[in-house]
Amino acid sequence: MSKCPNCNYELVLLEHRQKYKCPKCSRLYPQIEIERRDFVEFNKRHKGKQIRKSFMESLTNKNSLLNIRRNKMLKLHLRDGMKIIRRKC
Ligand SMILES: [Zn+2]
Repeated sequence: MSKCPNCNYELVLLEHRQKYKCPKCSRLYPQIEIERRDFVEFNKRHKGKQIRKSFMESLTNKNSLLNIRRNKMLKLHLRDGMKIIRRKC
């Protein structure tokens, strides 16, 4: 339901006039204007969720990448360590 930009009361659509009317403050708004505003707000909310979701996903992806790198580094260190030990012997 669309809300009145002035008093936040629920608007009533006057279909024959293509306008929304607020029963509380009796203001009239063009239907297209209210629907465009609702669409923009919906998009904002939806985008916010999407960004948070992809941020969380990128975090977990980075974590797994870091883990892979760490494991590779550990293996390299171990191998180098073994080489040094062998040389010394
Ligand atoms: Zn109003």
